[in-house]
Amino acid sequence: MKHSPVLLKNAAIISQNQTAEKKSILIQDNRISQILSENEIIDISSEQVFDLQDAELYAGFIDIHNHGAIGIDVNNANADDLHKASKFLAAKGVTAWLPTLVPDTDENYAKTIKAIDQLMQTQDGREPAARVLGVHYEGPFVSEKMCGALRTQFFKSFKTGDEVENLPKLKNGIHLTTLAPEVENGIELIKELRKQDWIVSIGHTKADFQTLENAFNAGAKHLTHFFNAMTGLHHREIGVVGWGLAKKEVTFDIIADGVHVHPQMLKFAFDYKTSENLILISDSVSPTGLGDGDFEIWGEKISVAGGKTQNERGSIAGSVITMLDAFKMFQSLGVSPSEISKMASLNPARLLGREQTHGSIKVGKRADLVAIDEKGNIKLVLIGGEKI
Ligand SMILES: [Zn+2]
Repeated sequence: MKHSPVLLKNAAIISQNQTAEKKSILIQDNRISQILSENEIIDISSEQVFDLQDAELYAGFIDIHNHGAIGIDVNNANADDLHKASKFLAAKGVTAWLPTLVPDTDENYAKTIKAIDQLMQTQDGREPAARVLGVHYEGPFVSEKMCGALRTQFFKSFKTGDEVENLPKLKNGIHLTTLAPEVENGIELIKELRKQDWIVSIGHTKADFQTLENAFNAGAKHLTHFFNAMTGLHHREIGVVGWGLAKKEVTFDIIADGVHVHPQMLKFAFDYKTSENLILISDSVSPTGLGDGDFEIWGEKISVAGGKTQNERGSIAGSVITMLDAFKMFQSLGVSPSEISKMASLNPARLLGREQTHGSIKVGKRADLVAIDEKGNIKLVLIGGEKI
């Protein structure tokens, strides 16, 4: 779709390798077409001009682990529901996301994949909202011993190629899955998924050191919600956490709500692994945006109190934060805007193979942008140059 050009004036651009620089940005055909210094004047009469009054301008956040919000649960959503969730997320600075499925019946898997397909095919024509880029299957090939809030009755084991063939796939889009490499034939499973171009992330696991090494060599180079649903660090048993910290080339994502992981542990992970290797996620669930109360998700009652979720089994059942809260959490830990931007936008784009078009503010990239004022409020969100 073609749109008239948009000009953003007085933007303090947050880029990955320097502090804020005051510039203007010209957007044409959904993309950043020029980055202009402060006093350059361009002569386009039809432009829509937004004066950002020195607000910080970030590449839009990309949430690769999100189960829904405002009462919408990805596992039970149709295309319109997903679009509603996308609009809510966009208002919080998220410009792209992966709806994330928990283990479910084959029928429900198929239904949801169809809904995601439908939304992906129609999102160009809909009101601007965070773009769905694909799907994240959290499970079903995960460890019962590290199930967290996932329902073990829907876990699968991998014996032949069939189980993978039977996982419904999108017509067009990114497939990411979280799996435990120690499941039966887990390493073969990783190889098979990599052959089909899936991104494989290790999680809900208690794999030992050698299995993790084998998984890495088979193509699983990322870890899901680091520290949560995995074995911890011990000096005689390195654990998944120990491996994730020690293995330089491994990246991981982390739920930055201050509940799943203590804020000082977030800071430790950041200090140790650096912003190059961390991705912020929300792992939000459907009650996000609805405040405290009792809700039902995934066939269980969960209560939300003071920003903390709990199911009847006593497990934390996802978060009720958005990427904006994750952003603010790292801000409160004293992390610089450019480093937060890497973790919230560039690194997820890189993991998803979308670095050419997403994740930073550069000429030629999609105009998925978020302006945040000095009070931390969102001033403007553009999705492909369109204002929400
Ligand atoms: Zn999750």
